[in-house]
Amino acid sequence: MSTAPEAHCMAPHPFLTEAHEAYRSQLRRFVQKECEPYIDAWERAGELPRALQRKAAEAGVLGIGFPEEYGGSGDNDPFYQSIMAEELARAGAGGLLASLVSHRIGSPPVAASGTHEQKERFLRPVIEGHKIAALAITEPGGGSDVASLRTTARREGDHYIVNGSKTFITSGMRADCITVAVRTGGPGMGGVSLLVVEAGTPGFTRTPLEKMGWWCSDTATLYFQDCRVPAQNIIGEENRGFKAIMHNFNNERLMLAAQAWAFGQVCYEESLAYARHRQTFGEPLVARQVIRHKLVDMKMQLDAVKAQLDLLCWQVLQGYTSVAEICLLKNLATGMLERVAGEAVQILGGAGYLRGTKVERIFRETKVLSIGGGATEIMKDLAARQLAY
Ligand SMILES: Cc1cc2nc3c(=O)[nH]c(=O)nc-3n(C[C@H](O)[C@H](O)[C@H](O)COP(=O)(O)OP(=O)(O)OC[C@H]3O[C@@H](n4cnc5c(N)ncnc54)[C@H](O)[C@@H]3O)c2cc1C
Repeated sequence: MSTAPEAHCMAPHPFLTEAHEAYRSQLRRFVQKECEPYIDAWERAGELPRALQRKAAEAGVLGIGFPEEYGGSGDNDPFYQSIMAEELARAGAGGLLASLVSHRIGSPPVAASGTHEQKERFLRPVIEGHKIAALAITEPGGGSDVASLRTTARREGDHYIVNGSKTFITSGMRADCITVAVRTGGPGMGGVSLLVVEAGTPGFTRTPLEKMGWWCSDTATLYFQDCRVPAQNIIGEENRGFKAIMHNFNNERLMLAAQAWAFGQVCYEESLAYARHRQTFGEPLVARQVIRHKLVDMKMQLDAVKAQLDLLCWQVLQGYTSVAEICLLKNLATGMLERVAGEAVQILGGAGYLRGTKVERIFRETKVLSIGGGATEIMKDLAARQLAY
């Protein structure tokens, strides 16, 4: 009755090489063998097993984009990040991506501005899968207005004394080294620094949070009470952290857009497969015009996001980062996922509402992508400012 989707995917991708495709195959094997069989148990447990980090490191999941000198792949090619998102998404759980690669937001400031000694302590063991890294910017008082953060770090001899709290922190319970945004100077963006706080530092405690989705990703509130952090853990110069945070956001947003596309694609494939198989009133669902139109609308929205995602990845590869366009892509992609996941649940009917289908889980996980890493409203404001409206 219908043409297989694969028939339409035969055209060569303009930017992907054999090396990219080899990387994809390597990750697909990793996801099929090491993730898919266990994902439901991890979702129930509320966290990933630590042993997965080592396996992910061996499969080449953790090192992409980081310096070769410290165990990374040594390239700065965002297409590898997109492929990673696409392949990990096949397990059908956003929490796997969020937590397994939380170092992709926690570690870039260390890679970019850390000393050799800091990279040996906080980067190499993370890339090798021995330690887990996280990023802590958001506070109970607010996440969007980063320049107003209130957690303080006061210099006292060879230490910073940190006081305050961070919340909604991905991998927050399991992380060994957390890149924390703190106020070392006056008000506003000029008084912000980045400090690595290690697990077990006196005065640092954490509590877990329960969420709508991303269950296998542990999320925490962090508390710092006269927490004594060695002064040598400061990343880059004091009071220069805000720029590093903003720079970090660009890649995070590109990654979130890639995730949104990848999970949308899973929804599309799952609902197409279901529509081909499910019979109602003596015909497969896919024979009904209403359902066919839903499916092509899903594909149309996915293709539009993918084209812009690939274009911006290509631009980054050429050394050009457009902040406004990345913000708008994040909105385009995450808004698309909300609609596509909703339609996928509709096509699956009751089965789409029940635990146990990828579509049901992805539907619960759509909102976090529209909120985390800069909410939709904030992305619009930032894009408008960048475009000098
Ligand atoms: C599962 C999960 C994981 C996360 N992981 C991390 C992490 O690892 N590290 C980290 O630091 N943070 C993390 N976050 C936090 C996330 O980045 C913040 O939730 C996000 O930045 C929004 O901040 P907020 O929740 O405090 O919302 P607020 O800043 O309180 O905003 C609430 C709402 O108001 C809107 N809004 C705010 N200001 C304006 C305005 N001026 N005009 C119009 N609308 C406005 C926002 O867009 C949002 O919709 C995570 C969040 C979740 C849910």
